[in-house]
Amino acid sequence: MLLTAELLLNYQRCSRRAFLDVYGDVDQRDPPNDYLLKLIQDSREHQQVVLGARAVHRPHYSAGDLVTGSQTTLALMQQGVEQIYQGVLLAEGGEDVTLVSIPDLLVKHPGKSIFGDWLYVPTEIKLGKRPKLEYQITVAFHVQVLAAVQGAWVENAWLFLREKGMYAVDLWEMLPRMQAILAECIEMLRQPQEPEVFIARNRCNLCHWFNHCYGIARERQHLSLLPGVTPPRYQQLQLLNLTSVEALASTNPKALEPLPGFGSETAQKLVRQAQATQDNQAIALPTVFATNPMPPTTKSAKPALPLHSLPTATVELYFDIEAEPNLDLVYLHGVLVVDRLLQTQQFYPLLAERPEQEEQIWQNLLDLLWAYPDAPIFHFCPYEAQTVERLASRYGTPAYRVKPLLPRFVDLHEWVTQSVTLPVESYALKPIARWVGFNWRNPAANGAQSIFWYAQWLSTGDRTYLNAILDYNEDDCRATHQVKDWLANFLQKIEPTGVLDCSA
Ligand code: SF4
Repeated sequence: MLLTAELLLNYQRCSRRAFLDVYGDVDQRDPPNDYLLKLIQDSREHQQVVLGARAVHRPHYSAGDLVTGSQTTLALMQQGVEQIYQGVLLAEGGEDVTLVSIPDLLVKHPGKSIFGDWLYVPTEIKLGKRPKLEYQITVAFHVQVLAAVQGAWVENAWLFLREKGMYAVDLWEMLPRMQAILAECIEMLRQPQEPEVFIARNRCNLCHWFNHCYGIARERQHLSLLPGVTPPRYQQLQLLNLTSVEALASTNPKALEPLPGFGSETAQKLVRQAQATQDNQAIALPTVFATNPMPPTTKSAKPALPLHSLPTATVELYFDIEAEPNLDLVYLHGVLVVDRLLQTQQFYPLLAERPEQEEQIWQNLLDLLWAYPDAPIFHFCPYEAQTVERLASRYGTPAYRVKPLLPRFVDLHEWVTQSVTLPVESYALKPIARWVGFNWRNPAANGAQSIFWYAQWLSTGDRTYLNAILDYNEDDCRATHQVKDWLANFLQKIEPTGVLDCSA
C-alpha cells in the first residue's frame, strides 16, 4: 500500500475519504468541479511565483512511475544540487506500507547526511494564508520520509504561505502528532470495514466522493443530514441507539440534555429538527410566542428579534454580494428593488467588469441604497452588512453616508433561525429557498462557481461568464425575497401550537 502525504491529509479531514481513495470504485468519484480546477490552477501559479527565478532541478520520470522518480531524486541529492522541485522520496512505513513524500522544495543546507557534508530541508508551498495544522502535519510527514532517505533528521522545515511567506514548523510538536495520525491511518486502512458516511458540509463540499456519499446518506436518511448533528453528538446518539430521524423525533429532549455537548437548548433543537424533518413541516420556535423584548440568545448574546415585527415596507431592497476572497475583491453588488405598491421588481447588478472598478461599484451601491432612504435592506447571513462596513473603511467613505444605512440591514438568516425549525439539511439560503418553492435557473450555480466564472471572464473576455454570474446573483436576491415573504406569512399565521404546514 502506498501512503502519500495527500492521503494522510485527506485522512485528517475524513477517514472515509482516505479509505475510499485507496479501496473505492473510481467510477463513483465525481469529476473535479470548475472551482476545484481553479484552485488547482491558482495553486500552480502561486508555486511558479514562489519559485520565480530560482534554479530548481526537477526529477524526470513518467507520471505514476514513483520508483524512477525516487531514483532520479536520489541521484540529484547525491550530486548535491541546490534545490529540487517536487522530488520523490520513498520509505518503508511498516508491513506492506510504503510512505511516499513529494515535498514542493528540497533545499540543500550544510550538515551531515549519507550524501556527505550536506543535507536537504523540505519546504511545502501552500496557497493558504494560515499555517493550518494539516499543512504542518504534511511537512512533518515529509521530514520523516526525508530522514529515512538521507539518513539524517533536519531541525527545521518550512511552509511557504501566501502573503505571509516562510513559516517555520515546530517539528518537536508536529512530528509526534504526525506519527500518531499516521499510525491511526494505517490501522484504519488495514481494516476491511468502510468508515460510516457522515455528511459535514464544510469538509464534504469539495470532496470527490460527495455524490456517492450523499446518495448513501439520503438513502439511509442518515442523521448527519440533520442540521446540528455534529460527529461528536452523533457518537453520543449512537450510544443511545438513536440513529434514525424517527427515533430522534420521538425522544424526550430531557433524555439528551445530560449528554456531553448537548444541554437543554441543543437537545430541544435536535429533537425539534428531527420532528420537522420527519413531518416535512415548519415548526415555530417557542421564542416566537414570548413577549418582547426577549432575552438575548445564548449563542450570539445579542437581543433576540422582535419576531412578530419582521420589517415590511412599501419598497424593500434585497441585496446579495459576489466576492473573490483570495483577491479580497467584491465584484458584484446585486440589489433587487421590490415596490409593493406599484407591484414592480427591478434588479440592479452593480458589476466590476475589472477588479479596479470595485470602488466605482461601491459608490454606485451607496447611491442606490440612498435612493430608497426608508427601504429595509434584506440579505442572508451577516456577510453583506460586514462587507459594507469593510468597503466604507477601505474607501474612506464619510460616516454620514454609511452609518444611517446599517440599521436598515435585516439579516434573514438570523430571522429564520430564531423563529422556525425547517425540514432542511442546512440553514443556508439554497435549501431554505428551495423548500419554500424557489428554483434557481441554473441549479448547479453557487458562490464558488461564480468565482470561477469571474476568473474565466477576466482571462477570456467571454461575456457568457458574466451573464451566468448576473443570473445567479439575481436568483439569490429573488430567493431571499421569497424566503422573506414566506417567513412574514408564517409568522402571521402560526397557531398557538406553533405548527403550520407551509411546505410549498
Ligand atoms: S463526501 Fe464527506 S463523508 Fe464522503 S468521503 Fe468525502 S468527506 Fe468523507
